[in-house]
Amino acid sequence: MTAQIIDGKAFAAEVREKVAGHVSRLKQEHGITPGLAVVLVGEDPASQVYVRNKGKQTIEVGMSSFEHKLPAETSQEELLELLDRLNADPQIHGILVQLPLPSHVDEELVINRIDPDKDVDGFHISNVGRLATGQKSMVPCTPLGCLMMLRDQRGSLSGLDAVVIGRSNIVGKPMAQLLLGDSCTVTIAHSRTRGLPEVVRRADVVVAAVGRPGFVRGEWIKPGATVIDVGINRIEAPEKGTNDDGSVKTRLVGDVDFDGAVQVAGAITPVPGGVGPMTIACLLANTVTACCRANGLDEPEGLTA
Ligand code: NAD
Repeated sequence: MTAQIIDGKAFAAEVREKVAGHVSRLKQEHGITPGLAVVLVGEDPASQVYVRNKGKQTIEVGMSSFEHKLPAETSQEELLELLDRLNADPQIHGILVQLPLPSHVDEELVINRIDPDKDVDGFHISNVGRLATGQKSMVPCTPLGCLMMLRDQRGSLSGLDAVVIGRSNIVGKPMAQLLLGDSCTVTIAHSRTRGLPEVVRRADVVVAAVGRPGFVRGEWIKPGATVIDVGINRIEAPEKGTNDDGSVKTRLVGDVDFDGAVQVAGAITPVPGGVGPMTIACLLANTVTACCRANGLDEPEGLTA
């Protein structure tokens, strides 16, 4: 059996199309344009690329994009003051602070200064608590994207055995909460888990968020399981040759041994082109959701947890 390959790029395009439809209705029927503010401190090249892509896609779906690029030496106080202004600005429905922040800034303090209703990354302690207690919350974008793909692929997730490998606050923990919310029997595995292959072998749904190339072996997968690979790892690819400076070319791979797992799984996300594109799409979805809630309007269907 060969697994169905879940096309995250196409799925993300569908989500963005839905978002654009809601944005258009909000503008036409209510005169409201959803707005997303992204704050970047410093010049980390990867963060600059993420922020550029977020801004571009925000505009493409018809929303307003507000970018605040601050120098690396910006003080914590200045950053908090900017967040206070963004919190109070009615044109802004979503606020995202690009992580990581420079070491002189207390990341937790900054994240918790964002108005929880505008916290489109879902990292504010109130949103973490709301998600854990089953209340309406802003849900972290990457796990939300994984959940959307799982629901689309499996229909109801109720009663399925799910294993989440990784317990980070950004992916593993919220993913486990979402699966629990959809009535899966959830196991969270991590670096101290014993007998991981056996744990994974029981699972109808496997979400891998470890950060190690090809870590989850094909022979661990239960036949027919749905495998969601969150990992993004850059490895050397000598088969692609060398760069002008003589260094070996690289390629991206996930946390799952794709070639092995694709022979056994029922469905699997590739890397690249799986979970990755869903993250920004879900950021846009969260911004529309936040805008609707802020204006007392019905939430868009299919874009929240
Ligand atoms: P993290 O480093 O914060 O967490 C990794 C987790 O893996 C930890 O909880 C750890 O317990 C677990 N782990 C480490 N070694 C293990 C082992 N031997 N066995 C079992 N578990 C082990 O990473 P993160 O932020 O959760 O990200 C995980 C991966 O997902 C990374 O590759 C990251 O680049 C990727 N990621 C992708 C997206 C996206 O697609 N947009 C978003 C966030 C993260």
